[in-house]
Amino acid sequence: LVDKEGIIHVRGRIDTSPNLSPENLIEVISTEIKKVLHSLSNQVVLKGVGIGAPNGNYFTGTVKFAPNMNWKEEVKVTKLFYKNIGVKTVLTNDANAAALGEMLFGKAKNIRDFLFITLGTGLGSGIVANGQLIYGHDGFAGELGHVVIVQNGRKCGCGRQGCLETYASATGIKKTYQELLTVNNVSSDFNPEVHGSIYIYEKAIRGEKEAIEAFDYTARMLALGLSNSVAYTSPQVIYLFGGLSQAGEILLKPLRAYFEEYLLNIYRNKISIEISGLPHSDAAILGAASLIWNEDN
Ligand SMILES: [Zn+2]
Repeated sequence: LVDKEGIIHVRGRIDTSPNLSPENLIEVISTEIKKVLHSLSNQVVLKGVGIGAPNGNYFTGTVKFAPNMNWKEEVKVTKLFYKNIGVKTVLTNDANAAALGEMLFGKAKNIRDFLFITLGTGLGSGIVANGQLIYGHDGFAGELGHVVIVQNGRKCGCGRQGCLETYASATGIKKTYQELLTVNNVSSDFNPEVHGSIYIYEKAIRGEKEAIEAFDYTARMLALGLSNSVAYTSPQVIYLFGGLSQAGEILLKPLRAYFEEYLLNIYRNKISIEISGLPHSDAAILGAASLIWNEDN
């Protein structure tokens, strides 16, 4: 429960099983919301429900190919919520929601043109241009993670090859690190199934050559993707969010250097790359809430 200033008053969490039907899941969440409202004995007015979900579509209010649920059909998420709660419900994908969160409650309050990049298991992004989140004609704009940066490159979960997220993400850096260990014949207990990118970070700050090289290569690929993306909307700032971005200077220093090197000359020395101002654990909540507050005039 988030107010207009971005203050989180109540939080809740429910377990989801991939086998829950859309109707059941939304009913469970709605019941929780009603419980919270009841406990506040109607001291608050619920303006709306904001939802950030992978593959969420702003225009249709639906989720197609939900990545973490065994849902076969396109699910009418906003309709189902409205049926249960009866207030305005707005949906978009999680990276778009976080970009709006940055604009309303984070560092981008006075920035009208920026890119928001989430570096998690994959690479998500939200594009804000002229002060507006870009949805595109069908609601799917801003999939920078699936821009091809290497022809015939690494296989991506989306079915294509050489997508940016196969290099610049937690999954990407783990693959790079594994390759470097193999090429350089280094024996290591590294297991990409078990270890996160933090394992590589810890090796890198201790000076391990392969780990430092893995960060350098990741930074180079991300810089290439970002420098190309700049051409579309000429952003002032690029905000990075997510586990990998917490590596700090080990990633940022080479990233900024490669980025300037790759940029078209007219864009050089005027775009900053910064870490998101959204608190890590609250970004999804603030992002979803901003969907409602952004439209509350
Ligand atoms: Zn892809």
